[in-house]
Amino acid sequence: PVVTRFAPSPTGYLHVGGARTALFNWLWARRTGGRFILRIEDTDQKRNTPTAAQQVMTDLRWLGIEWDEGPDVGGPNGPYCQSERRDLYDKHIRQLLDEGKAYYCFETSEDLDVMRQEAETRKTGFIFRRPERSPSEQDAQKARAEGRPVTVRFAIPQDVPIVVNDIVRGQISFNPAELGDFIILKSDGFPTYNFACVVDDRLMDVTHVIRGQEHLMNTPGQQALWQAMFPEAPLPQYAHMSVTVSDSGGKLSKRERPKALRTAIQALPDLDTARLAEVGGIGEEEVQTFLAGESVPDMPAIDAIAKHIGVHLPEINIVDFCKSGYLPETLVNFLALLGWNPGDQREVMTVEELIESFDLTRLTKSNSLFDRQKLVAFNTEHLRMLPGEKVLGYLKAYLTEVQSPLLKADDETLLRIIRLCEGARTLEDIDNKSRFLFVVDDKIEFDEKAVKKVLLKAGALDVLHVVRDRLATMDEYTEQALEEMLRGLAEEKQVGLGKVAQPLRVALCGTTISLSIFDSVNLLGKERTLARIDAALE
Ligand code: GLU
Repeated sequence: PVVTRFAPSPTGYLHVGGARTALFNWLWARRTGGRFILRIEDTDQKRNTPTAAQQVMTDLRWLGIEWDEGPDVGGPNGPYCQSERRDLYDKHIRQLLDEGKAYYCFETSEDLDVMRQEAETRKTGFIFRRPERSPSEQDAQKARAEGRPVTVRFAIPQDVPIVVNDIVRGQISFNPAELGDFIILKSDGFPTYNFACVVDDRLMDVTHVIRGQEHLMNTPGQQALWQAMFPEAPLPQYAHMSVTVSDSGGKLSKRERPKALRTAIQALPDLDTARLAEVGGIGEEEVQTFLAGESVPDMPAIDAIAKHIGVHLPEINIVDFCKSGYLPETLVNFLALLGWNPGDQREVMTVEELIESFDLTRLTKSNSLFDRQKLVAFNTEHLRMLPGEKVLGYLKAYLTEVQSPLLKADDETLLRIIRLCEGARTLEDIDNKSRFLFVVDDKIEFDEKAVKKVLLKAGALDVLHVVRDRLATMDEYTEQALEEMLRGLAEEKQVGLGKVAQPLRVALCGTTISLSIFDSVNLLGKERTLARIDAALE
């Protein structure tokens, strides 16, 4: 049976690249009725953050990607965090040492620097030179006692080229002499990624390794290690996925967000670094070094500052998309089409359709474009396609996430709002168009631009007075009656509907964007409508 795995190093939030890797592995397992494993590769003590693994799991689950084996669900081949598997790695290191397939090294980082410099002056790439005689166990003990770093390197077999058979890229031959003997056990006693990955792929019966193209260079070494440790077992099949490029040019990168924020701040007419620091909960100095391009604040600070100055940053982590009001269905659909296609013209697809059509033979070699406009179009489509009840669940989670006043609405009202917002691009749109209904103390905040553009226009307030008088005499606020009244008034005054509807809208909502004016008035009801107009007229 097919066994795939997603093996993130928990160094931060799950970003689109990682999510795509997870998705392709998951789709292949689901397509073939196989198993999908989540393995946490936390052997780099310096880089791991304790909450990152948890966050990655939350984000995967939000996407609907569930694993059959993993840290919290268990399974026959656990534990699933590499930091808890050290005895297994030690055993295999021991065996390689005993068989003469690996050897101890005692070089300090300074020693290695010197070797690298020498290689540079010789204009050759740095390749670690294997010693004539492998150091003994006693040598290792002595080095440890002297406080020298003790590492273990894999003696990569030099006799034949290493041929990788990649599902996407075909056959690629590597010269082992150019790979060099790489470290498999670090001086802190932890295995390196390249080693632990191979041991685990074997012990977890992984049959397919689907991962980003940046790992292609690791594959010959991993393959050679596999053959040295498990000569009887067939190699897993490798598929290295194409690179995704950003629509702003270059590789899709986590740096896009801070970069966009920096640009936005620099474009502000008056820069108040103290205020930005306060908003972001960081020191003013940190704001300054950030603006100078020397540092990057953490994510909450970036989000808070962006919100404060009202700039939309390009989403990159899965949580960013969640907070911008995208649906998991959209992301799954969109990510699946980055470097894969169903072989026909279909684009907007459900998860079931994706599973049914997924096939590794249609992974593409060429780069894929992260087209944000397409993402918005997909989201609009998925919002339209999903049953209202399902959207309701997502909308409530979203409103909780952003602490929207709309949370006070009951389910029935929310379902009605969802219907009224047909064609909305995101959950954020739905929230923006209707949150005016539930503002605290019924006091709306006026958007300065809207007030200037609409309410302060000549005659606008007079019209609003007339509208108020007519609304006061109406008993029933049905959409139909409201429409008749407003259209009638526009005709009387010989102006377009907008001239009577927009001032009313701004009075009721504070902005020029909301549900249709008839629905807005209807939902507010007579008392609140009149009270809000009075407040605006003051
Ligand atoms: N921990 C590695 C990473 O995050 C996994 C690579 C692999 O799939 O082998 O990139």
